[in-house]
Amino acid sequence: MTGTAKKATRDWQSLDAQHYLHPFTDFHDLGRKGSRIITRAEGVYIHDSDGRRILDGMAGLWCVNLGYGRRDLAEVAYRQLLELPYYNSFFQCSHPPAIELADLLAELSPGDFQHVFFTGSGSEANDTQIRLIRRYWTLMGEPERMTIIARKNAYHGSTIAGASLGGMGPMHEQTVLTVPGIAHIDQPYHFKLGGDLDPDEFGLQQARLLEEKILELGPEKVAAFFAEPVQGAGGVIIPPDTYWPEIQRICDEYGILLVADEVITAFGRLGHWFGSEHFGIRPDLISFAKGVSSGYLPLGGALVGKRVADVITAKGGEFAHGYTYSGHPACCAVALAALRAMQDEHIIEYVRDDLAPYFNARWAALADHPIIGEARSVGMVGAIEIVRDKSTRARFDEDLGAGTRCRDLSVDGGLVMRAVGDTMIVSPPLVADHGHIDELVDKAWQSLDRTAASLAAEN
Ligand code: PMP
Repeated sequence: MTGTAKKATRDWQSLDAQHYLHPFTDFHDLGRKGSRIITRAEGVYIHDSDGRRILDGMAGLWCVNLGYGRRDLAEVAYRQLLELPYYNSFFQCSHPPAIELADLLAELSPGDFQHVFFTGSGSEANDTQIRLIRRYWTLMGEPERMTIIARKNAYHGSTIAGASLGGMGPMHEQTVLTVPGIAHIDQPYHFKLGGDLDPDEFGLQQARLLEEKILELGPEKVAAFFAEPVQGAGGVIIPPDTYWPEIQRICDEYGILLVADEVITAFGRLGHWFGSEHFGIRPDLISFAKGVSSGYLPLGGALVGKRVADVITAKGGEFAHGYTYSGHPACCAVALAALRAMQDEHIIEYVRDDLAPYFNARWAALADHPIIGEARSVGMVGAIEIVRDKSTRARFDEDLGAGTRCRDLSVDGGLVMRAVGDTMIVSPPLVADHGHIDELVDKAWQSLDRTAASLAAEN
């Protein structure tokens, strides 16, 4: 029983259009077209209200790492909801699921992370980081260290602070930016910005933008650098190998905090517990969400490394910050079960040694498609760049909407791929097998064929 009555697709669509405002959606446009109604899911497949089965190449929103339909996680939630559905951890209270999850996260995280602050989402995790960063520098006696440097085309969430921190043009245009002290530098997006530069040279060049910005602002005014190890929503932008070591050098040299937003890259996505390990990043703070509970219940948090934790725990005084659902017992219990399942089922090793190498090799072959200018992937995230001309990387006319066209054709063909402009991205569940990867890549290729044919028909 799901608690909702069965209706015909058009009835759902009509009610949906009347009442439900969707995230990141053109309401007018969707109202005319009608939503796709997803009714259930199993393993790596979702099912819609017309009875179609679709391979979920995005693991929901980069979160359902363990796949759909796991009874063990549902049962943990059920039992916890009966035992203690809710209690807060304000006012010197705590409860076993949050304590155990904090302990496990401390064990799984790289470097010296012994503390965690729980939130309900990735956006709240990043808001929390801003609060922690500012509190840290105040307690250190350097309150003028206020400015956080982030990157253009980064995504750090949809709260006002998350949107301010992120570098998404349309979000900035629509947001009254009330968070002062955030500066942006350009991103390490080689396909778009690299021109003829060798990727390694380009990586160094883009990393050094951080040093230039620090010097421009004055090193004594810079609090932190904030970045996703791989930009996800920006289009799966995988930095060249030279990028992160140089960023690390610069952060160390100027003593600024390094925050890794691992909302996407943690919990196996890159074949490690944390994506920072893949790139050799040594962050002071880590944001997480999504995969921590495999998306079964909402949970996020800020992992706090020794450098910051020593100061905020030793110096005393209240940290005036917290959410009703910080450490929600059922969410923590499910996350604990999800992470233990990842341990017991050796998901990290499977991704690192088997699934990701297979996916990376098969995905790379999409570069041979006539409208693909680049196919890139790392771990279990991948992107392909749709182009009109492979040699010059020239795009199709923006009005043609090649990316959204490809996305729609792909879903019609039985595969969820996401479009970021004319970049198509995937992030499949980590429990996929080789057969699923074959299906994903074959369907992606077919979607590109159909996209090419449909674009040609309009020219
Ligand atoms: N940071 C990153 C890197 C993300 O990808 C996202 C979500 N896509 C967020 C933060 C925000 O997380 P949430 O949607 O849970 O608030």
